[in-house]
Amino acid sequence: MSASSADASRPRASADSKKVHIADTPVTLQNWYKHVNWLNVTLIIGIPLYGCIQALWVPLQLKTAIWAVVYYFWTGLGITAGYHRLWAHCSYSARLPLRIWLALVGGGAVEGSIRWWARDHRAHHRYTDTDKDPYSVRKGLLYSHIGWMVMKQNPKRIGRTDISDLNEDPVVVWQHRNYLKVVVIMGLIVPMLVAGLGWGDWWGGFVYAGILRIFFVQQATFCVNSLAHWLGEQPFDDRNSPRDHVLTALVTLGEGYHNFHHEFPSDYRNAIEWHQYDPTKWTIWIWSKLGLAYNLKQFRSNEIEKGRVQQLQKKLDQRRAKLDWGTPLDQLPVMEWDDYVEQCKNGRGLIAVAGVVHDVTDFIKDHPGGKAMIMSGIGKDATAMFNGGVYNHSNAAHNLLSTMRVAVIRGGSEVEIWKRAQKENKDVDYVRDDNGQRIVRAGQQVTKIPEPIPTADAA
Ligand SMILES: [Zn+2]
Ligand SMILES: [Zn+2]
Repeated sequence: MSASSADASRPRASADSKKVHIADTPVTLQNWYKHVNWLNVTLIIGIPLYGCIQALWVPLQLKTAIWAVVYYFWTGLGITAGYHRLWAHCSYSARLPLRIWLALVGGGAVEGSIRWWARDHRAHHRYTDTDKDPYSVRKGLLYSHIGWMVMKQNPKRIGRTDISDLNEDPVVVWQHRNYLKVVVIMGLIVPMLVAGLGWGDWWGGFVYAGILRIFFVQQATFCVNSLAHWLGEQPFDDRNSPRDHVLTALVTLGEGYHNFHHEFPSDYRNAIEWHQYDPTKWTIWIWSKLGLAYNLKQFRSNEIEKGRVQQLQKKLDQRRAKLDWGTPLDQLPVMEWDDYVEQCKNGRGLIAVAGVVHDVTDFIKDHPGGKAMIMSGIGKDATAMFNGGVYNHSNAAHNLLSTMRVAVIRGGSEVEIWKRAQKENKDVDYVRDDNGQRIVRAGQQVTKIPEPIPTADAA
């Protein structure tokens, strides 16, 4: 059955083979190997695997281990401080010696040239979570981590971005043209030379500071595309996938505050609190003190705080929407005063407070102030009684009362004023949430009257 369906699609596929990119055709048993990007598979899976096997009989010396960790940080910073924050986002400026250094150690991380890396990354920011995002997490966690490199992608699908500034940077252009040399020298030869000339551990330098260190730097960076779009909080905006998490930050030299980063991408910081882990930020700051970096960009805390407050508000609205605030006043039927009195005489437990009628029949036995007290309000205007005439009810009591409302009295003071305002579109006094529901703040319930006028009934 599968063979026939494959046959059916074959003539069309071959006729359009010049036009249709392999990535836009379905993966089948016959063509899967054409979908694989074998160069990338060799670079990010094959070589690390070879390193793991070598590590079985190359003993790890302490000096080489320390050197591998040091070189891990250098090459990692080449990506985070160089490729990412300097070139992809222009979040600060760097003097020529620093730019050359970052282009070299960044190349040693073996993640493509600055030009290629920054172009894809700008597309990722511009088209986050869409089909034009080269490593969209919407296609799966594994795809955003490694799949997008292992499988061929149609370059035409990736969103267009402007990289004219990068084409004008001679360091970027030079690195792009000589990328293979940079990779071999900075990725493998330099780490091997240091360990070999330094303490005679040529093979250890090659395997640990070279191959396996590349593997760890690569995997750490890939986590920004996968883990940072999957794990953690969204304090600034939850409409897209980027998230903040300390774990991702620990793995990625501080790139883990990714929700903040997507909101404020040209800020040289990813972490804004002093206690958050962002060694990339600290390094850039030290460079600026040494005169190697300048023009460090930062969003005003006013702007950052606005985003945080709006997101908090959104979360609050969602929590508020789950609660029962009583039937909205404009949806309640209008009741004549005489009808209200009449219904109470017939045994219905209705109480009018501030022009709103509440059915307390089922609540009488539970009334904290006793049965007699609540019964005395039935069939009367209990506004003053409820608001201090007999007992000044708590905020919680006003909230609870609102869940029992069933009607509004024609001509009832508060409600009528509010209804008229509605008609005249003068609803300015009432704040509404995202769902259009009126926000009832503590002490501002419709039944809450600051200084009630004693009525004949209450007196
Ligand atoms: Zn991202
Ligand atoms: Zn970024």
